[in-house]
Amino acid sequence: MGRIGSEDNPLRVAIIGSGPSGFYATEALLKSGLRVRVDMLERLPVPYGLVRSGVAPDHPKLKQVIEVYAKIAESPDFNYIGHVTVGRDISIGELRASHHAVILTCGAESDRNLGIPGETMPGSHTATEFVGWYNGHPDYRDRAFDLSHETAVVIGQGNVAADVARILAKSEQELAHTDIAEHALSQLAASKVRTIFVVGRRGPAQAKFTPKELREFGELEHCDAVVDESELELNDASRVELDDKTNPGARKIYDQFREFAARRVSGKLRRVIFTFLKSPVELLGDGRLARIRLEKNVLSGGPFNQGAHGTGKTMDIDAGIVLRSIGYRGVALPDVPFDSRSGVIPNVEGRVTKGGETMPQVYAAGWIKRGPTGIIGTNRADSVATVNSLLSDLAALDSGSAKRGTEAIYECLRRKGVRFLTFSDWKVLDKREIERGQPKGKPREKFTRVQEMLAQLDQ
Ligand code: NAP
Repeated sequence: MGRIGSEDNPLRVAIIGSGPSGFYATEALLKSGLRVRVDMLERLPVPYGLVRSGVAPDHPKLKQVIEVYAKIAESPDFNYIGHVTVGRDISIGELRASHHAVILTCGAESDRNLGIPGETMPGSHTATEFVGWYNGHPDYRDRAFDLSHETAVVIGQGNVAADVARILAKSEQELAHTDIAEHALSQLAASKVRTIFVVGRRGPAQAKFTPKELREFGELEHCDAVVDESELELNDASRVELDDKTNPGARKIYDQFREFAARRVSGKLRRVIFTFLKSPVELLGDGRLARIRLEKNVLSGGPFNQGAHGTGKTMDIDAGIVLRSIGYRGVALPDVPFDSRSGVIPNVEGRVTKGGETMPQVYAAGWIKRGPTGIIGTNRADSVATVNSLLSDLAALDSGSAKRGTEAIYECLRRKGVRFLTFSDWKVLDKREIERGQPKGKPREKFTRVQEMLAQLDQ
């Protein structure tokens, strides 16, 4: 038998999760020059992770990367296995036995908590739930969002907060020709929300929006972008941050806020109000959300190191819905170490570690490796780095006998009676979704229930 990565002993890698990091890891492996065979396992029947169910429906350009992933998937050395939950349908131990290496690219599926009273009362939701709902993710398809009150509050000033605030702000016409899920479009069309507060715990100089995402609020058809001039006053450390040449985004964001503040409110149907230096301290209501209590903050610390501290002064906002958009968080996988403090899998350069020791054969890439930061493309370099670690471990990964790979996975799934999907199955669903969208002028109408997806393949 030849060396690992040779014709009769291909490097067999199982990748867990079919989002950007999984596809970029696949791409790096396929380009390694070795004989490689990749099996990608995905919990949902359908691939592409957050590109399908996270990226906002009105940002179709960001979804064009799917074409790159679909091309990677055409490789004869790539195999997609959908509708398989690792840790339930097949274990990490089984995958380590059948493959030389396992790369975990399962993202950050949960959210950080505020840790305040009333946080989980009806009417208060995580951004993950709302984003999953309007994007037709089966886990969130049946969530209910009460849009009957005129005020909504979004906590956080990152791009996810921008996405959810913008979706609340847009009119039915602005969303109708996107791939937004049908159930969400009809409920958003009937929304009574008129005022959307976007609340930052720090100041306008520390907002994490990207300039393009913030600028969009100034271009909405039926919504004004509002900032109170007095909220744009800066302390010395924030001025240093904005003058720093390595921080050009913050200056652009701040200037955009200034531009919003200088605008005359034109009296459009809705308004998004950006407000700063306020932290939620309690959600109040009799069994369901009625108002949110915010504490006013001051900043302390040097430039780029400023933290928000409560002043004891509070204010209440009456609201029918609160969307908490304060960052995603990874979820532990059975038999894999997990750092519950930071919400990632402990690793050194992508090599998973347990109690400081490397866990042989197991690697991580993307948000589950480094935390939920960066844009889609950031994951490419991250996955390449992990694959480089894996390739430099080749000698240690060679078990001396060929691994069974795909065949062993199929055998395990059949033994357990798990119904799994191939990439050809996904192509059938993809085509039908596109066909369903056509009469409505939408790029696709997604299937939003797992059973619905499986039933399509039975026809
Ligand atoms: P994020 O950029 O990290 O923003 C999280 C926000 O929550 C920050 O404003 C943060 O404030 C705030 N926050 C954290 N803990 C808080 C608390 N206890 N109380 C109040 N506020 C709190 O995360 P994200 O918006 O979830 O986005 C995740 C990643 O995806 C980001 O890299 C983002 O750029 C990317 N993304 C990109 C796009 C796009 O390109 N269009 C779209 C969506 C997401 P502090 O700064 O004070 O911590």
